[in-house]
Amino acid sequence: MLCKVLEEFPWVHMPFEWLVQLTPPLKKRAFSISSSPLAHPNQIHLTVSVVSWLATPFRRKHGLCSTWLAGLDPNEETLVPCWIHQGSLPPPDPSTPLVLIGPGTGCAPFRAFVEERAAQRAREPTAPILFFFGCRNKDDDFLYRDFWPHHAQNNGVLSPEEGGGFFAAFSRDQPEKVYVQHKIREQSARVLNMLCSGAAVYVAGSSTKMPADVRAAMEEVVREKGVDAGWLRKLERAGKYNIETWS
Ligand SMILES: Cc1cc2nc3c(=O)[nH]c(=O)nc-3n(C[C@H](O)[C@H](O)[C@H](O)COP(=O)(O)OP(=O)(O)OC[C@H]3O[C@@H](n4cnc5c(N)ncnc54)[C@H](O)[C@@H]3O)c2cc1C
Repeated sequence: MLCKVLEEFPWVHMPFEWLVQLTPPLKKRAFSISSSPLAHPNQIHLTVSVVSWLATPFRRKHGLCSTWLAGLDPNEETLVPCWIHQGSLPPPDPSTPLVLIGPGTGCAPFRAFVEERAAQRAREPTAPILFFFGCRNKDDDFLYRDFWPHHAQNNGVLSPEEGGGFFAAFSRDQPEKVYVQHKIREQSARVLNMLCSGAAVYVAGSSTKMPADVRAAMEEVVREKGVDAGWLRKLERAGKYNIETWS
């Protein structure tokens, strides 16, 4: 806002100290850690989407932090202040089967989960993972497009032989829109099977419609089995239905 005012009134020469006093500190941006400490010791990977929106029909604005991060030169060292907080997705026990739903950058924490479990498997038996991913087009915004299929084959943690699975919904690759909730319904037998074997559900990504649509699909899945939707509430109370979403 202050920048806009100064742009509108270029003849105003504000002393630098005033400018500093008037500028509020930047708020922190949260990002989910998308790497496993076992797979990448001493590193933290982030999966960031560059935010932009049309402020007016002719003016596109860009998110401050995501645009800045994307503009950094990976060949130059940049010091970025960061704070690490425990998020709202508790790290799962290796023996707990997982149903993960993470469209778009919602896949960030689940890349870490899959990496972590794959690394744990080298040392101990682990439970399988079903992962539902979604994006607009297979050819444009399919994040980690080689990573998921890699873990979905050769007895990997997402492989059907091990009881796992990877399902991608490409919403705009066909005339009708296909989202993660459609894939969950399509795979209801597998999802139910996982839930009956004690799976925990994790949902991450956009906070707009996705979490409610996913919840409705999960309720349909459990109802198919003749179980009422209260079952999901029990799962929540047991700390086994976890959501981390953002706008
Ligand atoms: C727990 C948590 C985890 C997260 N994990 C991730 C992650 O893994 N990956 C990821 O990419 N993001 C993640 N986010 C989101 C991230 O924190 C930032 O919100 C996001 O990157 C945008 O920040 P920015 O500074 O680029 O945009 P900002 O400049 O802060 O703008 C953010 C939003 O505000 C809106 N906005 C701002 N100003 C205007 C305006 N004048 N008019 C209309 N709209 C406006 C825009 O719609 C824009 O989307 C997470 C958020 C939370 C809370």
